[in-house]
Amino acid sequence: LSRRLTSAMSALTGSNIIDEKLLDAVLKEICSALLESDVNVKLVGNLRKSVKQKVNLKDLPAGVNKKRIVQKTVVDELIKLVDPKVEAYKPVKGKTNVIMFVGLQGSGKTTSCTKLALFYQKQGFKSCLVCADTFRAGAFDQLKQNATKARIPFYGSYTETDPVRISKEGVDKFKKEKFEIIIVDTSGRHRQEKELFAEMVQIQQAVKPHQTIMVLDASIGQAAESQSKAFKESSNFGAIIITKMDGHAKGGGAISAVAVTQTPIVFIGTGEHMHELERFSAQPFISKLLGMGDIQGLMEHVQSLNLDKNKGMIKNLEQGTFTVRDLRDQMGNILKLGPLGKVASMLPGMGQMFESMGGDDTSGRVKRLISIMDSMTEKELDSDGRVFNADPSRMTRVARGSGTSVREVEEVLSQHRMMLGMAKKMGGKNGMMAKMNAVG
Ligand code: GDP
Ligand code: MG
Repeated sequence: LSRRLTSAMSALTGSNIIDEKLLDAVLKEICSALLESDVNVKLVGNLRKSVKQKVNLKDLPAGVNKKRIVQKTVVDELIKLVDPKVEAYKPVKGKTNVIMFVGLQGSGKTTSCTKLALFYQKQGFKSCLVCADTFRAGAFDQLKQNATKARIPFYGSYTETDPVRISKEGVDKFKKEKFEIIIVDTSGRHRQEKELFAEMVQIQQAVKPHQTIMVLDASIGQAAESQSKAFKESSNFGAIIITKMDGHAKGGGAISAVAVTQTPIVFIGTGEHMHELERFSAQPFISKLLGMGDIQGLMEHVQSLNLDKNKGMIKNLEQGTFTVRDLRDQMGNILKLGPLGKVASMLPGMGQMFESMGGDDTSGRVKRLISIMDSMTEKELDSDGRVFNADPSRMTRVARGSGTSVREVEEVLSQHRMMLGMAKKMGGKNGMMAKMNAVG
C-alpha cells in the first residue's frame, strides 16, 4: 500500500500544474491504494467525492498553491475518517476507574490490558488486573505472568469457572483496597458467538465499567466492519485499541472500525512487549498510511536514545539535507535499535529500502553496507554523494577497502540518494513536513 500511496502523493508533489485530469488520476490511485489496504469501499467512495467537492480548481484564484490544497484536502479527509469527534473516557485520579476489555480471541486483549495497566501505573495511578477469562486454558497463567513481570497486582482463579463471579470478586476486592485503575480482561471466542456476547454483557452488568475498550487486531482487514459493529451493539464500548500495528498490517480496518462505530481509537499496540503501547494520534497514523514516514516519531525516538551523533542527522533532516555520514549513523542506530522493520518503517523511504534488502534478514546486509561507508574518507562521508560521480575511482577504492564490489558501493550511494531526495521533500521551510504541520 505504502508504495502505491507514496507514488500517488509524489505524483502530486512532483508536478507543478494541477488540473482536473491530474486530480482525477491522483484520486484514482489513492483510492485504489486505500481499497487494497482494506479500507471500506463505501468510505473510499465518500472520500473521493468529498475531495473532489472541496477542491474546486476552477474557482481558485490565481496564485494559490493548488497542489498544496489537494494534498491538504486528502490528508484532512483521511484524518476525519479516524476522528469521530467523540472524547474517550479519561480515568480520574483518586477514584476507582473500572476498565473492561472485549474483543475476539487472539486480538491482543491480555497483552494490551497489562500494557495499559503499566501505562497508567507510570502516570501514578494505582493499577491492577482482573482475569475473567475462564474459557481458555492457561489464560490466568498468561495474565499472571505478564502482571508479575510488570509488577502489577492481579486477581484470578484456577478453579472458579464463572467469569461473572470472578470479575465481581476481583473488582470488589480491589475497590476496597482503593485501586484507581482496575482492568478486567475477558475471554474472546473465535467467532462472534452468542454466548460470548451474553457473557460479556453479564460481566458488564456485574462490574459496571467506566469504560469498555474493544481490542482489534490491525490485520483483520475488511472483517473489521462487521466485527466492530457486532461488539458495539452488544457491549457499547467507548474506545478502541488497535493491536499489532508493528506487523505487516494494512491498518485500513482501523478506519472502518471507527467509521462504523463512531468510537475513537485511544491506543495502538506496536509489539509484544509491555512498553509497546502508544497513544493514538491521527496525523502520524495517516502519514504512515500514506507512506510519508513518521518523521516526528523518528525524531522523538532518536532523541530518546540521547546519542550525540544523531543531533547532526536530525538537524540535517529538518533542513532537508542528508549526508552519507547520516546514512551511516542511521544504519548504525538501526542495528542498535533492534527490530529492523519497526524502526525502518518510521523512516521515510526506509520501508521500501529494507524490503529491497531482503526483508527480515537485514542485519547482515546493514553491517555490510556500514562497512562500505567505513571505508570512505571524512570528506566523502560529509558529502551529498556527488564526489563519487565526479571521480568514479573513489568507488573502486572504497570497494577494495571494504572487501565488497563497486556494484555494492553504488547501491549504498543510491540508497543515500533516495534518502536525500526524501529529506529534501520532507524537510525545509517548504517541505512536506512543514506543510503537514501546517495542516495539523
Ligand atoms: P487475547 O486472546 O485477545 O487475550 O490476545 P493475547 O493478548 O493473548 O495476544 C495474542 C497474541 O498476539 C500474543 O502472541 C501476543 O504476544 C500478540 N500481540 C498482542 N499485541 C501485539 C502487538 O501489538 N504486536 C505484536 N507483534 N503482537 C501482539
Ligand atoms: Mg486473553
